[in-house]
Amino acid sequence: MKPIRLPANRFPRFYRGGPAIDELRGTTPEAGAAFLPEDWVGSTTTAFGSGVDGLTRLEDGRTLREAVAADPEGFLGREHAEAYGDSPALLVKLLHAGERLPVHCHPDREFARRHLDCPWGKTEAWVIAGTEGPEAVVHLGFREAMDPGRLAGLVAGQRVEPLLAGLNAVPVAVGDTVLVPAGLPHAIGQGVLLVELQEPTDLSVLLGWEGFAIDGRRHGHLGLGFELALGCVDRSAWSQDRLARLRGGRGPDRPGVERLFPAEADPFFRAERLSPDPTARLEAAFSILVVTGGSGRLETAGGSLELARGATVLVPFAAGAGEVRGRLAAVRCLPPAPDAGPTVQGAP
Ligand SMILES: [Zn+2]
Repeated sequence: MKPIRLPANRFPRFYRGGPAIDELRGTTPEAGAAFLPEDWVGSTTTAFGSGVDGLTRLEDGRTLREAVAADPEGFLGREHAEAYGDSPALLVKLLHAGERLPVHCHPDREFARRHLDCPWGKTEAWVIAGTEGPEAVVHLGFREAMDPGRLAGLVAGQRVEPLLAGLNAVPVAVGDTVLVPAGLPHAIGQGVLLVELQEPTDLSVLLGWEGFAIDGRRHGHLGLGFELALGCVDRSAWSQDRLARLRGGRGPDRPGVERLFPAEADPFFRAERLSPDPTARLEAAFSILVVTGGSGRLETAGGSLELARGATVLVPFAAGAGEVRGRLAAVRCLPPAPDAGPTVQGAP
């Protein structure tokens, strides 16, 4: 199999953003498209409540989901397919926050399994790829433990200011990484562009949606009602030391390759930063490359592709081992190791 170049895959969301994705990809923004802040890259996941939005479509007209279902071992490798069936077990996005995102969080696997009949939660992680202005921040975790009654009151009254002030404001710069465990309340600050890895779902609980083009009272609780939905929120205190652990990486792994995210991320996804020196070797694996700068070339046993800033490429397992060459920077996104994720019903 050959590596597959992926076109943009955008659809409307309820918050503003998108120009930085066009700038990265070198595409022209659609007229009037102020609400295209996400680009789902190599996605077999649909947006919550939609049967279509989010799915990557291949040149031959099939969705990637259909193509993987027809050849899970070719795309994913045998070990992965034995563990997760025909799910890549990974969702990758480009996300540009044209405005600060609403305060929200995501359920973990146990909550999703119990209440949403879904084996995946939505632990996510960010690789910062761009910022605007001098004071880019993300808001992350309550600074002091949050009482459940107070949280319910802030959400019911949509008192976004105290909610936001209760979170840590964490400055970010290009190249930084942040692991966001399921449950941790967060909001990406205005102007931040990121490569996002997450479990393959679109499950969000909204805490502060006032001012956004969404009726959070109706659509913010996953159909569970807020009394139940707020049970997925991590209300514990996040000190600077605790936050620092989410921002760590693993350092060099092999020439031209640095492993991103702390070990706590491994059950959910893995990622590498490629900066070929002059080459970076890649083992055979289902992976998604996002080129954040420079240009070069991907060579695999199955085929080669030119790479330039903004390119996104799906490398199927059956493309085999390969390498990346050139003066470029890329994020290589990988699913969890086959023995690390949840048991997926329907997997052989
Ligand atoms: Zn989120």
